Amino acid sequence: MADTISHDLIIIGSGLAGLRAAISAASTHDSLNIAVVAKVQVMRSHSVSAEGGTAAVIFEEEGDNKESHIYDTIKGSDFLADQDVAELLVRSMPFEIYQLEHWGMPWSRRENGRIDQRKFGGYSFPRATYAQDKVGFYEMQTLYDTCLKYDNIHFYNEWFCTSILSDAKDFRGVTAIEMKSGDFVKFKAPAGIICTGGAGRIYSFSTYAYSSTPDGLDMAYRAGLALKDMEFVQFHPTGILPSGILITEGARGEGGYLINNQGERFMKKYAPTKLELASRDVVSRAMMREIQEGRGFKHESGVDCLKIDLSHLGEDNIKKRLAGIREIGIKFSGIDVIEEPIEIRPVCHYMMGGIHTNINGATEMTGLWAAGEAACNSLHGANRLGANSTSECLVWGRITGRLAAEYAVDHPSVSSISQHQVIEEEKRIYDGLFRSRGQVNPYEIRKELTDTMDAKAHIFRNEKDLAEGLKKVRHLKQQAWKHVDDHAKEYNTNFINVMEIDSMLRTAEIVLAGAFNRRESRGAHARTDYPNRDDINFLKHTIGYLTTQEPKMSWHPVTFTRYAPMERKY
Ligand SMILES: Cc1cc2nc3c(=O)[nH]c(=O)nc-3n(C[C@H](O)[C@H](O)[C@H](O)COP(=O)(O)OP(=O)(O)OC[C@H]3O[C@@H](n4cnc5c(N)ncnc54)[C@H](O)[C@@H]3O)c2cc1C
Repeated sequence: MADTISHDLIIIGSGLAGLRAAISAASTHDSLNIAVVAKVQVMRSHSVSAEGGTAAVIFEEEGDNKESHIYDTIKGSDFLADQDVAELLVRSMPFEIYQLEHWGMPWSRRENGRIDQRKFGGYSFPRATYAQDKVGFYEMQTLYDTCLKYDNIHFYNEWFCTSILSDAKDFRGVTAIEMKSGDFVKFKAPAGIICTGGAGRIYSFSTYAYSSTPDGLDMAYRAGLALKDMEFVQFHPTGILPSGILITEGARGEGGYLINNQGERFMKKYAPTKLELASRDVVSRAMMREIQEGRGFKHESGVDCLKIDLSHLGEDNIKKRLAGIREIGIKFSGIDVIEEPIEIRPVCHYMMGGIHTNINGATEMTGLWAAGEAACNSLHGANRLGANSTSECLVWGRITGRLAAEYAVDHPSVSSISQHQVIEEEKRIYDGLFRSRGQVNPYEIRKELTDTMDAKAHIFRNEKDLAEGLKKVRHLKQQAWKHVDDHAKEYNTNFINVMEIDSMLRTAEIVLAGAFNRRESRGAHARTDYPNRDDINFLKHTIGYLTTQEPKMSWHPVTFTRYAPMERKY
């Protein structure tokens, strides 16, 4: 029988959201015994790769204002954001910037010593608070250092969670595998927060870490919780070739140009006012049009692309403010951006959708919250603005950490865990993978899956492609979850990968199903067969539940508090 580890609060994931939640919970009640369980070491969570900045209004005396950040977020979302949620983000963020500062965050500064901010896409004011071009790394280091000051935060690094345990609709804990030993255990706690990040590895060309698979989303989905707005996948304009590693939007914020094979700054045709700093969905679509109409370059790998030119920014400026992406260019594309333009192409970068929560990050399960990229509290609607995601992690890390801590204090003891669920989960995994028989190489399934998503659910979509994508993913699902080649107990990465691939298949299915059902174009979801936004029929969130057959799809209302939808122009 699996061993039991007991805590008052379990946080799954040690990215920005998980660490911020841990500090918030630990400082709410010092008697609480908090676990942070993650499948990678803390400083390997994808958050460390955030480059460009964290959005907040901190220069009201220079003309910025919170209403403008709220409006920019809602406009960026193509009016699908819940407006009360956007307001909560904006009002909470200035505190988070100064809080990080007090914990030791080395923000980049102006000559006069004040924290600096840079321009980012879709904003009316320079609002991205930055630390050179490595904001996520420094934020993670600052939060991790702060966590280590609390005796009541316990890290379980390299533990893979597999399922949520519940009693009817009450959270009870999770099952997990300690990767080092291969032991299967159960964590017991009255409260939990899912902070498992994004799912961008369901696409082949992606900026995400290889660990950014949707295990957390899938755990919630398998536990009967809804996934929301999963069809909205963000493609960032500038991924380098061939790897997909990101060139931050900060590069355009600092004045970088996008050019086609005529040497033309083509964005002037698509977004005459904002040019390269229109929102990401607008820029990525414009880039795909340029490529489709023959004005792209050919990368040596055969892939069509465009270029970003930073050379006019000057060596000093680039070395000071964009040192990380210069290094990335040299190491991964063989190009020094000080000297010449670098080839780039739109790349999968962010999931607007996730586990359905309310404004406070509460899921449909009592005692369970979700925060960060794994959650969909409907802040970003159909398109997220750059720099608003690290902000979201901080704000909802803090909110959910406090709420979960208070809940755990009020519900100190967990009545017994259902042994039935634990046994079922053990059977699902070990009988399914170690004792059943399959022929197909799981890595081939993963490759076919991610290539299918690149081909059928990319920036431009249509009914035929989406139907084909669904058919293909369902076929792959039938071939998966049959075997694992490596039967070792300790550090069996093959086994972990097979579990990740399983979650990718279910998540890809719901991305496709949502995209198929949404017969309009809104934000990042562009249907060539329904090119217009349709507020009469589709101004609503997509909700999907797992069934034994196809996902059960329904809708959820958008919260409007201040702005009626209008046409989006940049
Ligand atoms: C290259 C890149 C650059 C970016 N730049 C910016 C930027 O400049 N500004 C901005 O606002 N946003 C940026 N973003 C987006 C932003 O960084 C992310 O959305 C955010 O950091 C996600 O943080 P998170 O805490 O939700 O999850 P993550 O940091 O992804 O962490 C997820 C955690 O969950 C754990 N986990 C997952 N599954 C399991 C499991 N089954 N069991 C146990 N643990 C599990 C992982 O181990 C990890 O610790 C960028 C994203 C990328 C990919």
